[in-house]
Amino acid sequence: MTDDAIEHRRLIVAGTGIAGLTAAIYAARSNNDPLVLEGDEPGGQLTLTSEVENYPGFPEGLSGPDLINKMKEQAEQFGSELEHGIVTDIQADERPFRVELRDGTVYTCDAFIAASGASARTLGVPGEDELMGYGVSTCATCDGAFFRGEDMLVVGGGDAAMEEAHFLTKFADTVYIAHRREEFRAEDYWIEKVGKKVESGDIEIMRNTELLEMHGSPEEGVDHVTLARNDEGYPSEKLDDEGTEQFDFDVGAVFIAIGHTPNTDYLEDTDVELDETGYIVAKGGKGGDQTATDVPGIFAAGDVVDYHYQQAVTAAGMGCKAAIDADEYLEDRPEAEAEAEAAAEADD
Ligand code: NAP
Repeated sequence: MTDDAIEHRRLIVAGTGIAGLTAAIYAARSNNDPLVLEGDEPGGQLTLTSEVENYPGFPEGLSGPDLINKMKEQAEQFGSELEHGIVTDIQADERPFRVELRDGTVYTCDAFIAASGASARTLGVPGEDELMGYGVSTCATCDGAFFRGEDMLVVGGGDAAMEEAHFLTKFADTVYIAHRREEFRAEDYWIEKVGKKVESGDIEIMRNTELLEMHGSPEEGVDHVTLARNDEGYPSEKLDDEGTEQFDFDVGAVFIAIGHTPNTDYLEDTDVELDETGYIVAKGGKGGDQTATDVPGIFAAGDVVDYHYQQAVTAAGMGCKAAIDADEYLEDRPEAEAEAEAAAEADD
């Protein structure tokens, strides 16, 4: 691609989840003309959530997609430009940065906000890839209704697993939760909600149980799964132990809710520091520049940074900080004064 064909942008925001869209709202209002790139999971994890009841300002609750659509509208209203695009590479040692997309499009930009979120993790067991989309899913909200009347299995012990299991009781005959150890990671709120469904017979909990294999076909869907149980927990690591029992279990659908992996592959060859699981290490602390990375001009917000809170409202807060940090960076660059003069001359 010739340099003439490469569009230059002042600021690119990668991601249209809560973090990216909040950054876009703030950046557009600071006249940084953000180009916001929407990836393969538009709207991010929140679009997979049925009801958001803890986002401040909406006492009656609202759906995840509704909240995202309102934010998109707000971002565009202030001048953000939204476009489909997956960042595959960023040349972070060049100025301006060179940003390559999967479809071959190349942009340059002065500042970049990584808000590309995280994608659902899978188990990596036999049958999973073949049956994904045919009875195996990482999104109960998206796919639950397809398996009306079936027994369903949810794998995981965090808030997501509890929320999905609770939601699936609308459709399932019985929902089973398989968790690899005794204690749940989920908040008490969800454990109590699920507890009520256990009492009513809609949910059954299988502790110290792991899924080893899924059986079925794309044509017929999931037929059954192979599970392992050991009272000491983590049975898949103890398959040869006397205390481990392996058994087949009939279910019509499997929902995997075991957390997420950050979408940061495109930063691997840059000086942006990533931890061992791929999360971006941002500067943090108390003062300004909390969302700065090791590369000046590249900022990070939302699930690419945060493996702990992962709430819509915390992602929004980080998106806001990233836009303010990027604005301060853009103002302070040595080129900024010359650009302002050129813009003023062009206006005359
Ligand atoms: P999470 O909290 O990381 O929980 C993942 C669960 O999956 C854990 O119980 C973990 O077991 C289990 N797990 C991980 N790898 C596994 C494997 N290979 N095989 C079997 N089990 C495996 O993830 P999450 O539930 O997606 O939640 C992420 C964040 O989003 C949390 O901060 C949560 O509060 C938030 N969230 C909130 C809500 C809500 O409040 N409405 C809903 C969804 C998510 P161990 O416990 O043994 O590690």
